[in-house]
This record gives sequence, C-alpha cells and structure tokens, in this order.
Amino acid sequence: MKRLVILGGGYGGLRIIERVLTPDLPDNVSVTLVDRMPFHGLKTEYYALAAGTVPEADVRVPFPNDPRLTIKYGEVTQIQLEEQAVAFANGDLLEYDWLVIALGCEDRYHNIPGADQYTHSIQTLGATRKTYAAVNNVKPYGQITIVGGGLSGVEIASELRESRPDLNIRLLDRGENILSPFPRKLQNYASQWFMEHDVQLISKASVNRVEQGVVYNHDQPLDSDVIVWTAGIQANRIVREMPVEQDAAGRTVLNQYHQIPTHPNVYVVGDCAALPFAPSAQLAEFQGEQIALILNKDIKNEDYPACLPEIKLKGTLGSLGKKEGFGIMGKVSLVGQMPRVMKSGVLWMYKRHLG
Ligand SMILES: Cc1cc2nc3c(=O)[nH]c(=O)nc-3n(C[C@H](O)[C@H](O)[C@H](O)COP(=O)(O)OP(=O)(O)OC[C@H]3O[C@@H](n4cnc5c(N)ncnc54)[C@H](O)[C@@H]3O)c2cc1C
Repeated sequence: MKRLVILGGGYGGLRIIERVLTPDLPDNVSVTLVDRMPFHGLKTEYYALAAGTVPEADVRVPFPNDPRLTIKYGEVTQIQLEEQAVAFANGDLLEYDWLVIALGCEDRYHNIPGADQYTHSIQTLGATRKTYAAVNNVKPYGQITIVGGGLSGVEIASELRESRPDLNIRLLDRGENILSPFPRKLQNYASQWFMEHDVQLISKASVNRVEQGVVYNHDQPLDSDVIVWTAGIQANRIVREMPVEQDAAGRTVLNQYHQIPTHPNVYVVGDCAALPFAPSAQLAEFQGEQIALILNKDIKNEDYPACLPEIKLKGTLGSLGKKEGFGIMGKVSLVGQMPRVMKSGVLWMYKRHLG
C-alpha cells in the first residue's frame, strides 16, 4: 500500500483531496487527511465570527465523506523529512510515501515585545473564538485597537463597527493609507467609510511595544480594552522549523512542481509555500489544482508534464460591514454594494460546492 498524507484540511489541502479522490484512484493507495479540527474552517470569514456578526456554524464545512479517505484528528508537532513521518502532540507517528503540507499560516509579530502575549488573533478558529469573547465582553463604550490595516484588519474593524456601534475603534497602520497593496481609489473609499462610521484611523504608525491593555505607537501609550493583531503573517511554525530553504516569511521554497527540491515526495501548498503572489485562499486552491495534477501522475507512475498551467488569479474582494465592500478584478477597481454582493456570492458558491 502507498500512503498519501495531507496535513491540513484548509483551502489548499481540501482542493487536493477533492482532485485525488477520483474514480480512477488505484486501490493500493491510501489517502489520509490530518487536521486538528473536525471540519474545514472558512478562514476568510473569521473576521465576522470575531466581530459577532455570524455564528460559528456558518464558518464550518464538513470534511468530505468518502470511504477511501481516512481522517486523523490531532495536533501535528513535527515533520520528519528523512524518516518520512509526521509526529503528533500525543506521541503518535504517521508514516507517508507522499506528503502534502497545507498547514496555513500564523501571526507575525516582527519581534515587537509583548505583541504575541497581549494581542488577540484571527488566524485560527480557536484564537478567533477567544477574540470573539474578548471583543464582545468589552464594556459599553470601551476601546478596541486593531493593529494592521490590510484586508483582515479592515474587515474586522468595519464588521465590529456594525456589530458594536457603542465601541471606540481605532485602526493603526504603518503605511500612509490603509489597504496599501490596493489601488488608491479603494484606499480612499475604505478610509471615507471609516470616517463616516466613526472609526479612528492612525496612519504611519510604528508599534514598538505592547503591554496588557496598552499599545505603544512611536512610544506613545494607547489604552485599549482589547488589542487585535492583523499586522502580518508567516508560515506555520512546523514548516518554519523544517531544515529546508525558506523565504523571509518562513515559507518553503519549491521546485516548479511545488515539491521540496531535496524531498520531491513532499508538496507544500497555500500559506506555507513561497510563491510569487500574495498568499490567499484563491491561490491555495489554484496551487492545489496543480499539485493534484502532479500527484495523480506520481500515483499512476506517469511522466510529469513539461510545465504546469499558469496561475491566473481572479482578483480580491473585501467587505466593509454587511452592505459595502471593495474589490479588484484584473485592472478594474470596484467599490460599494456590488463587490459586497459578489463577495457573498463567492462564499455561497464555495459552500455549495463543498456541501
Ligand atoms: C480575516 C481573513 C480574511 C481573509 N480574506 C480572504 C479573502 O477574502 N480571499 C482570499 O483569497 N483569502 C483571504 N484570506 C487568506 C486565506 O484565508 C488564506 O490564504 C487561506 O486560508 C490559506 O489556505 P491554506 O490551505 O494554506 O491554509 P488554511 O486554510 O489556514 O488551512 C490550514 C489547516 O491546517 C490546520 N492546521 C494548522 N496547524 C495544524 C497543526 N499543527 N496540526 C493539525 N492541523 C493544523 C488548520 O486547522 C487548518 O484546517 C483571509 C484571511 C483572514 C485571516
């Protein structure tokens, strides 16, 4: 029996499973999905769970129910590339012939003292539950500080504004404008939305320390009941600890087939992989398609294609609460209700496809 093990049932891992569990999967190949959670978490919606505008059931999708798929629940602690084995927190060891690493990312704290200790996160479902409890337990008219004005910071700030009109919310960003990778039109639209909805924007921020209930911006203390960190990500610790080549965010450098060059039976997908695009669910799925194509060749012992189809991303959509949003499709910038409706539509289609 040949063993295919997929670590992580997020966007990348799940897409690969879907594409490998085809009618012509040989009987002598076992497929095992490993995750700490008993369902697929819709991470792109964690901001709404944290803000309290959607229940947790809305961000869960059941894993595929296929008799050929074994699901092992557990906390992965180490990947042993030489031994071709995965270690678990409970001491279990799982051996593989082919491995897919799809473990997602973690917050990046840029060595800022106290940031990991005193801020809340929306990078895992467990952390998001705690963030939900913290922000929703803040006393009326309390103060929330969100550090990082990228897509997730903007989405949680706006969603929280709608969820808790009483709160004082401030959003800190190191750039001149929030949403720095987006066109100016979108940045201005989002900034205007925050002005109209009484969210304080602090640009050119430099957070140099965090203490319990205090963010220091350029050494100036900003008192906060809850601090939410959305100021950067890096590859999952387990991936960063592998003795292989990595980029500055700890993502694994891969060959043209998304394999670790020194261990071509190991594939890395999504937020763990060094790719020439910003990490996203869409990218993880697209890359997952490509990996499945090659894995299916491995499984059938067939030759690889000379090259893989070019990765073409469709664009990005973001929300400003439940009614407005922004997006970029090719070179076209969209603002207002339409991108918000499109974002809801994409989510609906994704859930329907998996469900
Ligand atoms: C608030 C927010 C909004 C976002 N919005 C968008 C958006 O609009 N569009 C977009 O394209 N992207 C968006 N993203 C980014 C997107 O969510 C990620 O790029 C995407 O989830 C990456 O997919 P992945 O398969 O690499 O990892 P993930 O989807 O994170 O999956 C990783 C899986 O690994 C499991 N896992 C991790 N560590 C362990 C362990 N040690 N043991 C066992 N299991 C483990 C996790 O439980 C999880 O199931 C957003 C992210 C956030 C936080």
